[in-house]
Amino acid sequence: MIPVSSPKPIDVVVVGAGSAGAALAWKLAAEEISVLLIDRAPREKLGRPWINGVEERLFPAIGLGQVKGPIRFADRSRFIIESPAGYRITIERPRVAEIDMRELSSALRRNALLLGARTRFDTDVRRLIVEGGLVRGVVARNREGDEEQIRARCVVHAAGHRPLPGTEALGEEAPGGEIDDADLCIASQEVYEIEDPAAAERFMAERGLRPHDALSRIGVRGGYAISNTSIDLDRRHASFLSGAMLHEGGGASRDLIDEYRRDLGFTGKRLFGGSGLIPVRRPHDRLVGPGYALLGDAAAQVYPAHGSGVAAGIRAALLLANTLSGALRSVAELDSEALWPYAALFMRSRGALCAGAEIVRKLAEGFTAEELDRLVGGGLMRADISHEVIACRPARVPIARLPGLFMKIAMAGALGRKVAAATLRSKCQERHYRRYPAQYDPRGLREWAGMAAMRSSAATRISA
Ligand SMILES: Cc1cc2nc3c(=O)[nH]c(=O)nc-3n(C[C@H](O)[C@H](O)[C@H](O)COP(=O)(O)OP(=O)(O)OC[C@H]3O[C@@H](n4cnc5c(N)ncnc54)[C@H](O)[C@@H]3O)c2cc1C
Repeated sequence: MIPVSSPKPIDVVVVGAGSAGAALAWKLAAEEISVLLIDRAPREKLGRPWINGVEERLFPAIGLGQVKGPIRFADRSRFIIESPAGYRITIERPRVAEIDMRELSSALRRNALLLGARTRFDTDVRRLIVEGGLVRGVVARNREGDEEQIRARCVVHAAGHRPLPGTEALGEEAPGGEIDDADLCIASQEVYEIEDPAAAERFMAERGLRPHDALSRIGVRGGYAISNTSIDLDRRHASFLSGAMLHEGGGASRDLIDEYRRDLGFTGKRLFGGSGLIPVRRPHDRLVGPGYALLGDAAAQVYPAHGSGVAAGIRAALLLANTLSGALRSVAELDSEALWPYAALFMRSRGALCAGAEIVRKLAEGFTAEELDRLVGGGLMRADISHEVIACRPARVPIARLPGLFMKIAMAGALGRKVAAATLRSKCQERHYRRYPAQYDPRGLREWAGMAAMRSSAATRISA
């Protein structure tokens, strides 16, 4: 018999103290809900050791002040997309802040602790406890290697894209699922010291870069693969990000950075960085089960066009905190129905954008280097649309510009037709997600999920 820990009753156990889990713990504690935040990493290793680009408008929206970070886009900075043959589009003043994830996750945890959330680090959650068809807690292994039961009225899985063992005991009501390798992107982010500032300045002058500009080379290994470089001469930091689909040879995403760095020749000591997998698929059809909810990467709450999951996960945390705070006070058992408002609100808003962006990702994967050159050089990829896509916002083309765009699509022949078909499918999928069942209705959900899967796989055929 595994001993039961904690004499104090816990309302919610949050597994995973990444940005999504820590944000949820903070918002639940603010509602005076008893919450325990668990992570397998020791306290000093919490937070991913790299810089993420996060939409600026997130921070005021969640009530978080300035988060320190080694690199932030300055007002004059630009995001420059460069095709394999060197065609460029320049996005002025992207609405993205470059954040050190260790700082962000520590700011979120600090807020949670100040409001009374409890934490347990160095504690590995081994499986869910499912009794009578309801999740009642987790079995965790503490730093001494002892197993214990931690019981709660609700468990939130915010521990990354792999399902927690025990989920299968929920049968038809199990949320989430395994992520196919074809939907995984591997990304690496590394920050190096600039050893030779004069050479770095020469590189910037040759490439027409200003301080803090990000140069994003697309199609570096397959249509979706990118390699971004940003240089901060004041701090003598060079920041590199690479990302590629696993099946595009992304397994060596770190090599992309190393090769490029060797070519540049001005970097010295590695300061920090790391690699990880990002689920770049549409959000899972089912985000909640009885006594159980998925959050962040665990729910595939990622914008697949560029693998950004921080803002989507934190925004979802706000919705989940609202749902939990109402449900914990009004019902004795948190069944799927009680947790459904979270799922419906997310899927109909941010989830819809993410689902549409999955089709953009699939389209990008199929592009050849020559097609990327034509897209950027021929004006089909536009700065105003890319500006919105980078900030994970719905892209709208002003009516006055539509005739010009249609002309370019027509002139691009088969490539134009492919882009137009994918854009249409992306909008249809977005609309479908906006019609996600508003109430818990297993049959309605099955029908909805069948249609969502069909639209998603049809997009794979366009890009092939
Ligand atoms: C190199 C790289 C660059 C990226 N760049 C960007 C970017 O620029 N912008 C952006 O928005 N997104 C970016 N992403 C994606 C983004 O980092 C993730 O989507 C986001 O961090 C997910 O947050 P999360 O809280 O869901 O999960 P995570 O941050 O993965 O946190 C999960 C936590 O769960 C813990 N855990 C796991 N298993 C267990 C267990 N069994 N028991 C207890 N604890 C457990 C882990 O230790 C971890 O702390 C990038 C990803 C990578 C890999």
